[in-house]
Amino acid sequence: MAAKIKNCPSCGRIFVPMNATQKLCPDCMDKLREKEHEVVEYVRDHPKVKIGEIIEATGASENMIKRMIREGRFIQTGVQMTYPCEKCGAPITQGKLCPKCSAALKKDLAGAAEKIQAAREAKLAERPSAYRSERTTQGGGKNNPAPAKPKKYAGDGLSNRYRGLR
Ligand SMILES: [Zn+2]
Ligand SMILES: [Zn+2]
Repeated sequence: MAAKIKNCPSCGRIFVPMNATQKLCPDCMDKLREKEHEVVEYVRDHPKVKIGEIIEATGASENMIKRMIREGRFIQTGVQMTYPCEKCGAPITQGKLCPKCSAALKKDLAGAAEKIQAAREAKLAERPSAYRSERTTQGGGKNNPAPAKPKKYAGDGLSNRYRGLR
């Protein structure tokens, strides 16, 4: 039997997990369950409690309480437990950001991607503009540092490039 053994991250003991998701040794699992139960009980008895007070009263970790909120462990108590959005502090029950902040973040990311795309297109547009300035007079292009050499390009693919511009 090639059972995979693990080190319990809580007590350091070596144990054989029942399944891949089991991270703690059986003893610590029991303790954790007890602790979770304690937290739920405490919240039930103190409906207006804040996370900090739960941590103080039960010795549970903040991560554990947040996880329990995400898992909906307090719903049965009838208490709506929340924790603050990492950006604005609004009460949330899932993830790290409130819906507003996560929407804003998404917009930011989309905006950044758009800017990159726009910059790329602007760079591509620089070349055709050089050709365009050849047709008008010399120096017609505003930001076209390279002096135009009309004759050199006159024959090769010029009309094609103009077709591409339209
Ligand atoms: Zn353990
Ligand atoms: Zn927020």
